[in-house]
Amino acid sequence: MRADDDRFDRQKRINGWDQDAVSKARCLVVGAGALGNELIKLLVQKGVRDLTLVDYDSIIEANLNRCVFFNSSDVGKLKAEVLAEKARVMDENARIKAVVKRLEFLDDWFYDRFDYAFSGLDNQAARLHLNAYCYGRVPLIDGGTTGFHGKVQVVRSPSSCLECTMSKADYKKMWKKYSCVGEVLDFLDPKMPALATTTSIIAAMQANEFVKMVHGRDCLEGKYVFFDGLKQETIVYDVPKRANCPVH
Ligand SMILES: [Zn+2]
Repeated sequence: MRADDDRFDRQKRINGWDQDAVSKARCLVVGAGALGNELIKLLVQKGVRDLTLVDYDSIIEANLNRCVFFNSSDVGKLKAEVLAEKARVMDENARIKAVVKRLEFLDDWFYDRFDYAFSGLDNQAARLHLNAYCYGRVPLIDGGTTGFHGKVQVVRSPSSCLECTMSKADYKKMWKKYSCVGEVLDFLDPKMPALATTTSIIAAMQANEFVKMVHGRDCLEGKYVFFDGLKQETIVYDVPKRANCPVH
């Protein structure tokens, strides 16, 4: 095959690139919103061919300014199904499965078939739930955004996890989102400020961590990356493993 006829030729020119390992990676993306759209786009572009997408929610007009695969004719349809269907068009060899379910209704063995998990969630409660189920089973590459700011954290046992960063004040803030009878009020539907530009940057950082992990390079495991879009600055913090963390 001529180099120009191979869609992955240019990335194969990166020293040590293993296209076979990238293509065979079994990836789970939780959340088919702004980060989920970007993550799926980037993973398919890199040649990942085994993707599973989880989201129970439907598309609304307010999603359209930062979800690259959605348009106004999709409003009311299920995010996971629309995203899977449209992303398949990018590469006919990509198998993209949509799972329309709330995160809390997935069986714990569901996570065992994946090599990498990505969080494209927009609230901390759902993120911690995913973190607890992934820990020790599958590495989790978490991303989050608020306006101009974003974060990326890589969790791979036995390093620290997302819950290791939680203080008492964080728990208090998070539990305010639950009603007095324990009902989840906004488990996956908070209304936070969001920018497509921050989303793209954070999803790209997450996808980069995946590439490094696939190739056995040092990743952000045990670290927390804070991105400040106003200063165009990233700060990398070490996250120590918390002794009383309930996850491990
Ligand atoms: Zn922990």
